[in-house]
Amino acid sequence: RATLPLPLVGDDTPVPCADGVERPYLSLDAAASTGALPAVARRVEEFLPRYSSIHRGAGYKSRQATDAYEAARAAALDFATGHGPARDRVAIFGRNTTDAINHLAYRLRLRADDVVVTTAAEHHANLLPWARACRRRHVETGTDGTFGVQDVEAALDAGGGPPPKLLAVTAASNVTGWMPPVEQLVAAAHARGVPVLVDGAQLAAHRPLPAEADFLAWSGHKMYAPFGVGVLVGPREAFTDGDPFLAGGGAVEYVGLDEVVWAAPPEREEAGSPNVVGAVALHAAIDELRRVGWPAITAHDVELAHRLRSGLAAIDGVTLLGPAADAVRLPLATFTVDTVPHALVAARLSAEHAIAVRHGCFCAHPYLTRLLGLTPAEVDAFQRAMRAGDRRLVPGAVRASAGINTRPEDIDRLLAAV
Ligand code: PMP
Repeated sequence: RATLPLPLVGDDTPVPCADGVERPYLSLDAAASTGALPAVARRVEEFLPRYSSIHRGAGYKSRQATDAYEAARAAALDFATGHGPARDRVAIFGRNTTDAINHLAYRLRLRADDVVVTTAAEHHANLLPWARACRRRHVETGTDGTFGVQDVEAALDAGGGPPPKLLAVTAASNVTGWMPPVEQLVAAAHARGVPVLVDGAQLAAHRPLPAEADFLAWSGHKMYAPFGVGVLVGPREAFTDGDPFLAGGGAVEYVGLDEVVWAAPPEREEAGSPNVVGAVALHAAIDELRRVGWPAITAHDVELAHRLRSGLAAIDGVTLLGPAADAVRLPLATFTVDTVPHALVAARLSAEHAIAVRHGCFCAHPYLTRLLGLTPAEVDAFQRAMRAGDRRLVPGAVRASAGINTRPEDIDRLLAAV
């Protein structure tokens, strides 16, 4: 078993600061994208000489690349569902979580008057695909950024019409790190015959994905694999009829100029040449997380979360957004600094301390407006500023987020800088 922290490729690279002094780069932006694990880099390097077209290629390398791609698919499926109920599910590779949720929104063949229940705590990736497809009912959050099972039950039961087509909910917020009670939410939805999509983007690197969910989506670049690979997992029968999300080569058995016989899933859902290297890298990241083990990762997360969140909360003028410091067990904190604009905090952390954080609204405008307690007039001013392209008025906050490579002293360096 590995001991944590586990350094990532490129950690501590010296970077120039505004005073001309080089300091070791410290990324506290794991919630946006992590670096790569050395085991991932090694596996990619080993694979590159065997890099070849897959599925239809008859050559030796093509067969090896096909095997590697399909082994990655099996690993992804097992990563998401291996500890859950045995069901016939498929893992479909795509670019990222956004791609996966758009894929599902298309594949559910929603009608304009269908209803999907989602929440005000979602990333835009789990709001906009549904907004485009059909009507929504949103579960509201309190000012602490949380909601309860009963709030979701009320949204599922509201309206008096036919039951919603889906509950779409995140497993962990990218803004507050709060983890909704997903297991109970899935049970509540299933009791009403409603299937559930869980957005696993923020959870995948930290905890087992909730295998009881019907559909799962997550991204490689948030779990120590490179950009460009994501996964959608769902019941096979959801992908057997109708048109696939993308139409093209690889997804078909037969094509005439006016007809098509689609292939069976998952090939049916993966038209075009796939990201084989990305899949191989994701497989390596899955293997490495398995090797480290969830108990070690959870213990590391909880220790870092406590150090980060209670440390920030103790600084005069700093306000944490979301639940109380110790109520969040993912190593992530979003905060504001009295009288200092979020962009300036982030710019100074970078320019003076070589610390990389994120600032703004974190692709979650509805959630941020609630967490910041913006008045309707302020929300209106925000909208008008954005329509006018004036980014100076963007409300927001600063987010620091840690991962498998973060050392306790990294957190202390941030706290000292803040
Ligand atoms: N959902 C959540 C909770 C996220 O944090 C993110 C990434 N910030 C996404 C979805 C979208 O992921 P991607 O950009 O990889 O599509």
